[in-house]
Formats: sequence, C-alpha cells, structure tokens
Amino acid sequence: MALEDLYREVILDHYRNPRNRKALEKCNAAAEGSNPLCGDDVRVELLIEQGEVTEIGITGHGCSITQASGSMMSEAVKARTIETIRTLTDRFKGMMSIDGANDPGLDPNRPGAVLGDLESLQGVRKFPVRIKCATLPWTTLEEAIKGFEEG
Ligand code: ZN
Repeated sequence: MALEDLYREVILDHYRNPRNRKALEKCNAAAEGSNPLCGDDVRVELLIEQGEVTEIGITGHGCSITQASGSMMSEAVKARTIETIRTLTDRFKGMMSIDGANDPGLDPNRPGAVLGDLESLQGVRKFPVRIKCATLPWTTLEEAIKGFEEG
C-alpha cells in the first residue's frame, strides 16, 4: 500500500470513529474555534489536574480534516503534561507550515516529539486552504490551556 493510501485510511478511520467525541461532565478549561472559510466549528473541553490533561472532549461540526485532526489530537494529548502538549503542538504546527520548514524536528526521545497518526495529515499541506482545517483543533486547544493558566 502506498504511503498516501495508508495516510488516507488513517484519516478516514478517525473521521468515521472519532475518539473522545463527547462533552465532559466535569472540565476546568474550554475554548471554541471556527474556520469560516470551510464552515468548521470545534469546541475543546479539558480537565487539567496537576499539570496534566486527564480528560478531553471534542464536539462541533466540520469537514473530515478538522474532525480527523481533532480526534488524533485528543488521543495525542490525553494523559500528557501541558509541557509535553506544547512540544506536540509546536511540532504539529511546524509540520503543517507550507513546506514543513518550521518543523523543529526534535529528538525523538523527547516527550511529545513523536507525532504518530498525526503524520498522516501532512498530505494536507498540498492544499493550503485546508491547512487551517487541520490546525483548528490545535489552536483551540492552545486557547483552552491559555484560559486555564490565566485563571
Ligand atoms: Zn475544514
């Protein structure tokens, strides 16, 4: 199977079976984001305990790229520290820059340096108008964490 087909399968799987797609009963951080160009809306809810995201819930409506990215993000950040999540976010956003040139390419042993399924979204770079679809859940996550830290 070509890498591109494998990537497509991974994206479709997350789109059809989104992980952590729920509203949280108990959360202490939340944010909403939208991408009017595509009509994507996302809400990210977090339960942050002792510097770690212990629960995450994603709701909203959007295209397959936004939904898949949000699902992968939720798996990647759950049970991770805020510091690790920052590393992951920087790597993901770097990878999604037009030519990937901003990818910091970190030491793979560093927590948060390995993107896993998220790598499948790099094909989206070929369609610059869709890049924001892929990064929307992440910028919304950053907003939620920022709001939490600012109390
Ligand atoms: Zn979209």
